Amino acid sequence: MADLARPASQPYSEGVPLGHSIAAHRIHGWCYLCADHTLAEEVLAWQVWAYELLPQMLERDRD
Ligand SMILES: [Zn+2]
Repeated sequence: MADLARPASQPYSEGVPLGHSIAAHRIHGWCYLCADHTLAEEVLAWQVWAYELLPQMLERDRD
């Protein structure tokens, strides 16, 4: 997983190859356009990411 503790002065797109998903690189550190990854893998990675966030979202809604 990507390091989310980047300096604020460093844009998310830094280091992301042109045409690749900035969001996917920010969250997963790669996207389906990167070598050795497929679109199905990226979709699954997003599903796992969302599933892991679900308890936090439900907890926040309770407040
Ligand atoms: Zn990529």
